[in-house]
Amino acid sequence: MSLFGTRRSDTNGRAASETASEILARDEEYLLPVYARYPVVMERGEGCRLFDVDGHEYLDMMGGLGVNALGHAHPRMLAAMVEQAATMVHLSPQFSNRWASLLAAKLCELSGMSGVFFSTGGSEAVEGALKIARTYGRQTGGARKFEIVALRGSYHGRTFGSMSVTGQEKYSSDFGPGLGGVRFAHKNDLGSLRGAVSDATCAILLEPVLGEGGIHFLSPEFLAEARRLADAHGALLIFDEIQSGLGRTGAWFAFTQSGVRPDALILGKPLGGGIPLSALLVNDALFHSFGLAKHGSTLGGTPLGCRLGVEFLNVMQEENILQQVRRSGARLQERLERLAAQFDEVIEIRGEGLMWGVELSVPARPIAEEGLRRGVMFNVVQGNVLRFLPPLILTEAQVDAAIDVLDAVFAQSFVRRAIHATPVANVA
Ligand code: PMP
Repeated sequence: MSLFGTRRSDTNGRAASETASEILARDEEYLLPVYARYPVVMERGEGCRLFDVDGHEYLDMMGGLGVNALGHAHPRMLAAMVEQAATMVHLSPQFSNRWASLLAAKLCELSGMSGVFFSTGGSEAVEGALKIARTYGRQTGGARKFEIVALRGSYHGRTFGSMSVTGQEKYSSDFGPGLGGVRFAHKNDLGSLRGAVSDATCAILLEPVLGEGGIHFLSPEFLAEARRLADAHGALLIFDEIQSGLGRTGAWFAFTQSGVRPDALILGKPLGGGIPLSALLVNDALFHSFGLAKHGSTLGGTPLGCRLGVEFLNVMQEENILQQVRRSGARLQERLERLAAQFDEVIEIRGEGLMWGVELSVPARPIAEEGLRRGVMFNVVQGNVLRFLPPLILTEAQVDAAIDVLDAVFAQSFVRRAIHATPVANVA
């Protein structure tokens, strides 16, 4: 029997008649079991909706973990993708294509930064940030200036460097030892940060909003103190806005409101419209820090990814998506506050724009599974936090549709407080 004959289904990818259970069985046979997958096979997306192979429709409140900012199959993104795919998909980064520098210029204009290095995913951009921090430390303070200060509860990625600066043991405990010279401070604890930073520090790395950590916002005072300490000790202040940046909170960047400016900024997730693309943005002083050939990425900054990045930013600006994020975000906040007032199992809600966390006193996975059965995709982090990272084009009516379902799932799972016995949908 041939190798292929032993497989459960055709491997030519054209077997459109495969059932969901056949596909799930093949997943289980061939894909390493590192994700707690849901028992659904998606076929296609349209706007904020996804459709599975059996034709069931789902409202997407997780947005591909924050990647699908303009939803699925956005007409302008699709047109740009098709045109660029027919023109030039990839090019050696030693050659110029108009899209990379155009996207870099736009990102600099929006962020106030001065230069950009493109890579593929978030973790890879974090690696670039760590390397530029180390080389900067070496250039300004010698070989002993190599420490990185990050936060407990943070998340920066899965590669060795990014994993080492991630302040959650569960991601690194099987793989140690990681990168040396990493110190962790507690979020929003000024004393703890002061204790961690010294003249040996080459960079303070912060997520202005800890996303995987469960949606925790760093206070303006904490960000300001980080800026002051970085300046006092000749260290860089680096913001990882892979999750919170590019419109997610209703501003271009989460740091904007704080008034604190970083020396380097890391972006990813929605940047390439679903094509792997991330960016390390730096200030003027760091523009030349990497020597020639000291850093690189074969697949970073492809014409296809960068063209989609330009189109993504154009759509955001021309269609005033930030305003939409603020409007739908305000509606989401209002609905979540009402839920929190009615169910004791809701410990806290945290968020801004279309980046929210609902912390529960019980595991959140069963809630997400029941939501999925009822046609809404919710995401879980930290075991007990429902995280919302929907497409930024989500409408207020879609917010209502999603939270009506969540309300029904809560009502099925928990006891609604008697004082608020009126079904939420009927509240004026
Ligand atoms: N930093 C932050 C803040 C993130 O949210 C993520 C992804 N969740 C990463 C880094 C890593 O990005 P990637 O998974 O694309 O490598």
